[in-house]
Amino acid sequence: MLADLQQLARAAAGLEICGILFGREGRVSARRAAKNVADDPRRHFEIDPRTLIDAERGERSGGEPVLGYYHSHPSGPVRPSVTDAESAAPDGRLWLIINGQDAAAWQAVPDGEIYGRFDAIPLDCADAKGQTAAE
Ligand SMILES: [Zn+2]
Repeated sequence: MLADLQQLARAAAGLEICGILFGREGRVSARRAAKNVADDPRRHFEIDPRTLIDAERGERSGGEPVLGYYHSHPSGPVRPSVTDAESAAPDGRLWLIINGQDAAAWQAVPDGEIYGRFDAIPLDCADAKGQTAAE
């Protein structure tokens, strides 16, 4: 899954890509790409709220739970930005950040080591062999 995402990140020509991760107990089983509706998608991301609502609705009706989110940093390290920290709810969800070469996983928590919002977590939790959700 990571190799696929890194390829998509490279193909996005400087725009941040983003989407939703599904799974249970910290293991990603599927992902769904979302439109980046941020005002400046070269520097920020905002998951299309319709995709988010669909995913949450699916979870409530017995579908695969939303485990977290992924997005890319086209020209930066795979570390959360200040903006990421400001926009993340401390809900325990997984934040997977990728660029063309690297990937890292973070957990959004109330009192994190990164900007008070994220803790680093092992990447293997995000490197599942799960199938890709329909896009
Ligand atoms: Zn970011």
